[in-house]
Amino acid sequence: MFKKVIASFLGSRNQRLLKQKQRQVDKINALEPEMQALSDAELKAKTAEFKQRLAKGAKLDSLLHEAFAVVREASVRTMGMRHFDVQLIGGMVLNSGNIAEMRTGEGKTLTETLPAYLNALSGDGVHIITVNDYLANRDADWMRPIFEFLDMQVGVIYSNQEHELKKAAYACDITYGTNNEFGFDYLRDNMAFSKEEKVQAVLNFAIVDEVDSILIDEARTPLIISGAAEDGSEHYRKINKLVPQLTRKEGEGDDATGDYELDEKTKQVHITEEGHQKLEELLAKEGMLSDGKSLYDLANISLMHHVSAALRAHAAFHKDVDYIVQNDEVVIVDEHTGRTMSGRRWSDGLHQAIEAKEGVKIQNENITMASITFQNYFRLYNKLSGMTGTADTEAFEFQQIYGLEVVIIPTNKPMVRDDRADQIFLTTQEKFEAIIEDVNERREKGQPTLVGTASIEASEYLDKLMTKAKIPHNVLNAKFHEQEAEIIAQAGQPGAVTIATNMAGRGTDIVLGGSVEAEIAGLDNPSEAEKEKLQAEWKKRHTAVLDAGGLHIVGSERHESRRIDNQLRGRSGRQGDKGSSRFYLSLEDNLMRIFASDRMAGLMKRLGMKKGESIEHKWVSKAVENAQRKVEGHNYDIRKQLLEYDDVANDQRRVVYAQREQLMNSEDVSETINKIIDSVAESMFTTYIPNDSLEEQWDVPGLEKHINENYLLQLPISRWLAEEDDLHADSLKQRVFAAIRKAYTDKEEQVGPEAMRHFEKAMMLQSLDTHWREHLASMDHLRQGIGLRGYAQKNPKQEYKREAFLMFSDMLQGIKEDVVSNLIRAQFVAEDEIEALEKQQRQAAAANLQFNHASADDVLEAPSDSNSTLEIAEPFIRTESKVGRNEPCPCGSGKKYKQCHGKV
Ligand code: ADP
Ligand code: MG
Repeated sequence: MFKKVIASFLGSRNQRLLKQKQRQVDKINALEPEMQALSDAELKAKTAEFKQRLAKGAKLDSLLHEAFAVVREASVRTMGMRHFDVQLIGGMVLNSGNIAEMRTGEGKTLTETLPAYLNALSGDGVHIITVNDYLANRDADWMRPIFEFLDMQVGVIYSNQEHELKKAAYACDITYGTNNEFGFDYLRDNMAFSKEEKVQAVLNFAIVDEVDSILIDEARTPLIISGAAEDGSEHYRKINKLVPQLTRKEGEGDDATGDYELDEKTKQVHITEEGHQKLEELLAKEGMLSDGKSLYDLANISLMHHVSAALRAHAAFHKDVDYIVQNDEVVIVDEHTGRTMSGRRWSDGLHQAIEAKEGVKIQNENITMASITFQNYFRLYNKLSGMTGTADTEAFEFQQIYGLEVVIIPTNKPMVRDDRADQIFLTTQEKFEAIIEDVNERREKGQPTLVGTASIEASEYLDKLMTKAKIPHNVLNAKFHEQEAEIIAQAGQPGAVTIATNMAGRGTDIVLGGSVEAEIAGLDNPSEAEKEKLQAEWKKRHTAVLDAGGLHIVGSERHESRRIDNQLRGRSGRQGDKGSSRFYLSLEDNLMRIFASDRMAGLMKRLGMKKGESIEHKWVSKAVENAQRKVEGHNYDIRKQLLEYDDVANDQRRVVYAQREQLMNSEDVSETINKIIDSVAESMFTTYIPNDSLEEQWDVPGLEKHINENYLLQLPISRWLAEEDDLHADSLKQRVFAAIRKAYTDKEEQVGPEAMRHFEKAMMLQSLDTHWREHLASMDHLRQGIGLRGYAQKNPKQEYKREAFLMFSDMLQGIKEDVVSNLIRAQFVAEDEIEALEKQQRQAAAANLQFNHASADDVLEAPSDSNSTLEIAEPFIRTESKVGRNEPCPCGSGKKYKQCHGKV
């Protein structure tokens, strides 16, 4: 009852929307005579006129009626197709940033020209997203005459496209491409080293064709760009072997010698001058450092990194204290609670260094360089819209996750397809026999049949059965989009039998009697007479197929999702054509076995079904539908959970990408650097001289040493303190800061401001990228491990969020420290060296990149919330907070930490 009320309420909302749009259609129609009276040149000139009006402040939507009327007229003149009124309505729904549900064959491709043209007038570009490359090209070529007639440029992006071509395609008013390609371009742009390398401009307006496929079916699997495994483990092992040859410097006096020092408090190591020389020799001997090169050279920063990780692994991290070795893995032990933290990994190569030390497997294969889900990619657009034949069953999800409303557009002509009730058998074998029989009968009548399957295996099985039964047929598996499109275009020939999986041939019209256009296109320079002859023959076939009952659809099983079944049915009965459909099921089908078995068996008994019989009953159809709803709900939960996990990474990604963008667009980042120096100096200073502490608590020698090592400065702090009575913490801090700043300005004088600016920028970018990449890996590990750790009465998602945030603040701090210490310590900076460094980065970034559309299972290893308490353990509590309560929150919200993520 309640459901019915909701349904009628929703129904009435749809009716209301349609009525409202119909009034606008009337206005567009009223403009038609005026448009028809324009010459071609005058019609074309409308584009410039609209743009001018926009420039003068007119709103885009105020141009809608005229713009739609112009596109319709242009379409009539160039393609001989006049947009139907329902297509105008569809166009308006798209323009309002929502989803237009328009049945298959209603002409969605032509519909998209309306909002695409209108929104492209803004000059910010419109992206039209298709499910495969073949369709991107087809649709762009198909609609190009309309757009070009109206002075709009059309481009297509595709994978492995040459950089300049891709850039040009994005610069067009309207750009076609697949969801994967748009998403990967976004990620690649955010890995670029200069503005020139970027291809996308603004993400203004997207029209997603087959929107359910892209935003629902594919939403479970994120796009991932990963760097292939460099032979990192070898590297770690080699360096690991060198460590025992280095000695630790102990004691303070002048006579103390050694290769490195250990700061127990921070677990950091510092290599002494002596150690430096020795290391250079050792590394050179191992062939890891070219002769005459210094470890201080910019290009060797990463080597230096490895070395200090190895030293830390040996000197500062102890087995069974800081970590344990379990199942060939190094597992961190939390220093505060003593609890093991499986899945969590130390960053900066430390974890790998410890793995090398312990001789276990070094896990640094495939590093994620960047990743995003379609959900989060498409939410970046200022305006998002979509169209499909089947959105209504998922209307809730579209609304919840994307804020998109589904509007059901009526068909242009009344729909007359005859949808029969499901026929259900006891066994698969009986079911398939019935299918073959049905197909044979149709074929004899001259009716074409499309048999849909839910898997390639089922297609192959049917293929065999039909070959055995001597039924000529075609099989499509959604592998070769272009070829399959050709086959599907002819699937409407009299008596044709086509077996296809769900996605196969999607987007291509099945014309009753076959595609005469394809036949004509197959001829070499055909004469008018030849064309007419083909047309006449087609007409005969077309009528024959209609008389036989149109296209018949056979579903060989119910899919998990009702939407996919509707897609299959929707291939028949286009534009008011005759047609029919029936699904064949058996109790042995997966869906039935897993989700409906008990109920179904009971039903069968009540309906008195015997072996060899089939039944057709509304109870059965209802039970099947319920099973489907159950699975749909389950899949929705998985997608939602993925999104919730990805949301965390998404916030961070936005912060990092925004910073990167800003960096790349500025020539001079010295102001930022100055702020970073201050903030790093601040946290360094308070480590040794805590705020509000007594002088007895100060670690002045430690401070002196730290400054010496990190800034190459010798500040006689203890002498100052001894000699000056009025020197207190604050004034001391000011003096230290001034000295560090001076060290930096001295450095700048030494190398020249221009080189310094260049260097700063390169250093920041490199640091950001390296740390971000490592952070992504840590996040992956965290996500996989969080469930294993188990939190008594704790929500793993909350824990994930909290820890991800802490890791993110650590990362930001790490970037800052890296930048400052590298900038001040790097020994000589020559312009050509910077360029060499940049080139090296670029090559490293471009080499071995892999583009994956990963499977959802990899991403969703975190268990669901309900059963995550695998072990009862104390919650992990991080006692120190690295962000000051009054400092801005590192999440980038602009709020103070205490008002944002630091809220207690
Ligand atoms: P959909 O994507 O909605 O399934 P298509 O865009 O592939 O449909 O179009 C289906 C067929 O309808 C195409 O052959 C197209 O040429 C035709 N068509 C679409 N709109 C019109 C129109 N306004 N007038 C005539 N034919 C049209
Ligand atoms: Mg289509």
